Amino acid sequence: MTIPIPSHVRQVMARLEAAGYQAWCVGGCVRDCLLGRPPADWDVATSALPQETAACFGDRTLARAGMDYGTIGVGTEAGVVEVTTYRVDGAYSGHRRPEQVAFARCLEEDLARRDFTINAMAYHPERGLADRFGGQRDLKAGLLRCVGDPARRFDEDALRILRALRFGAALGFALDPAAVQAAQEARGLLGGVSGQRVQEELTKLLCGPFAGRTLADYPSLVFTTLPELAPLAGCAQESPYHCFDCWGHTVHAVDGVPQEPVLRWAALLHDCGKPSVKSMGPDGRAHFYGHPKISGQIARTLMERLCFSNQRKAAVSALVERHGEPLPMPEKRVKRLLAALGEEGFGRLLLLMRGDVLAQAPGLAQERLGLLAQAEALGGRLLRQGACLTLRDLAVGGGDLLALGLPQGPELGAVLRRLLDEVLAGELANERPVLLARAGEIGGVPIG
Ligand code: ATP
Ligand code: MG
Repeated sequence: MTIPIPSHVRQVMARLEAAGYQAWCVGGCVRDCLLGRPPADWDVATSALPQETAACFGDRTLARAGMDYGTIGVGTEAGVVEVTTYRVDGAYSGHRRPEQVAFARCLEEDLARRDFTINAMAYHPERGLADRFGGQRDLKAGLLRCVGDPARRFDEDALRILRALRFGAALGFALDPAAVQAAQEARGLLGGVSGQRVQEELTKLLCGPFAGRTLADYPSLVFTTLPELAPLAGCAQESPYHCFDCWGHTVHAVDGVPQEPVLRWAALLHDCGKPSVKSMGPDGRAHFYGHPKISGQIARTLMERLCFSNQRKAAVSALVERHGEPLPMPEKRVKRLLAALGEEGFGRLLLLMRGDVLAQAPGLAQERLGLLAQAEALGGRLLRQGACLTLRDLAVGGGDLLALGLPQGPELGAVLRRLLDEVLAGELANERPVLLARAGEIGGVPIG
């Protein structure tokens, strides 16, 4: 078995070896190559100390931010290659990162600190595969097994619990039963892991092709980091539209949207407010009045805790809040949604609504899918026609209103927004004379 190491990585390894150090490809790239997948990046492990690595690449651009942990980014013509000194992790604190790292001179020690057997292999173009923990066997069996005792490994670093779920969702691998049990026992430690790290791992989990199955298989681990979702489990929907409880529906909705972060998070969170507003109607059906709005609020708090960027928080919560748009969507509403969400956001909303429908009772879904396709076609047509959707599209601007005699100041913007509102509502034509006359009316300026 040979792994085709790209030449820019081979050159980095060769330079280290020419200077008398060892260098191996290690971790994710070895795993992905053995699986026949293109690796996301190539990591090199070396016996050289960080300063020694830096000295080998004096002529290259170096990223030194991770140097305390042994990592130097070496600039190459094909991107940065991360070179990390063999490490043994020192004492762990707070069940997260090691307090200090000690550098090691042998590869085996470095592999032993890694999380799962499939991530603990190294490859060298002449020496071949180093696989001390049975990584290749577990790759073939589709099994995620910890390197060493799972209880100890999760206690050292609770983030590994989420990494296990993440690799399960990405690769469709099963978790070794001993790891599942240890994860259950250690899950309380997840509270100590930083929101940012939790977010990163959960995003990768959600974008995996086996996300739904992973969420369904390990609800208690998921709910430990996302307690807002726990009430969904066992919350019956009691309606002919639904064939799952709220959690089952959520899990199917996640699988029903494209594998990208905004849509996957929106699908995960879209109904999180349902349990809190559930009521039973006289018809014996459950109702969840106002749940999209409440779900949006809960989603925002959750995303705040997990340190989402403002941009992603806004994109996800806008979709969650609007996922209950009634169908069919008349042209006016399509315009409003396009105006509020933009072309990309509107497209995503329809995809979320589609995923939502696909996770409902199959018999009743066809009609809704048809109506969603109509809304999509309508949106496409409006965009092609250059419909007026934003202030920029209005046939008049601030200067025109000033010329009309309206005073400078915030009211000017308010008048423009009102004009846009009325155009979107179909009450006004987007034509200069019409808009100027209306602006005069709103602004109290007599039109000559
Ligand atoms: P990806 O393709 O998503 O980058 P990866 O396996 O490369 O997957 P990284 O998070 O980039 O994952 O980590 C690189 C390697 O470092 C892993 O393969 C694993 O060997 C090791 N590793 C990363 N995080 C941990 C951890 N928390 N505990 C132990 N080993 C870890
Ligand atoms: Mg990686």
